[in-house]
Amino acid sequence: APVIGVLALQGDVREHLIALAAADAVARAVRRPEELAGVDGLVLPGGESTTISKLAVLFGVMEPLRARVRAGMPVYGTCAGMIMLADKILDPRSGQETIGGIDMIVRRNAFGRQNESFEAAVDVKGIAGDPVEGVFIRAPWVESVGAGAEVLAEHGGHIVAVRQGNVLATSFHPELTGDHRVHSLFVDMVRANRTPESL
Ligand code: GLN
Repeated sequence: APVIGVLALQGDVREHLIALAAADAVARAVRRPEELAGVDGLVLPGGESTTISKLAVLFGVMEPLRARVRAGMPVYGTCAGMIMLADKILDPRSGQETIGGIDMIVRRNAFGRQNESFEAAVDVKGIAGDPVEGVFIRAPWVESVGAGAEVLAEHGGHIVAVRQGNVLATSFHPELTGDHRVHSLFVDMVRANRTPESL
């Protein structure tokens, strides 16, 4: 089975570890560059993107993350993780950096404050059957995408799921619902990216 890390600096790490295991991956927390080197793919959890950004720099893992993403490692970011994967944030806090990987502009907290969090059924391209239950918690939306990025889902006229090559991002949190279809989609991306010898 593919080994998939969850960046464990801040955020809902445990929920992603559980969802990945349910989707038949070997899931591990990743904090340090050495741990990053041992995974086939990585999940960036929900949480607070400014905190994750600062801790990634502090732990010396920001540049290694950028290098792995540039080299084609599959990555999936939810909510704050989506923000981390944006090439550009519309309204970054001072000092906030992203890893990048998707040619998109993201607006933080676009769907409102914490008490305006909500759930909605979302049709996600590539996921068969019922819509996904989208849990939106102080969620970002995607203002615009470049030519290389594919929009996978929209809600209320706003882009909430995007894929560019091996990089996947959702505004919402499938790890909180017990429905592992989005994680399975990502595990399939990781499997497809592995060289035949490692399968
Ligand atoms: N608003 C948060 C941020 O800017 C994201 C919230 C979340 O991940 N649920 O990072």
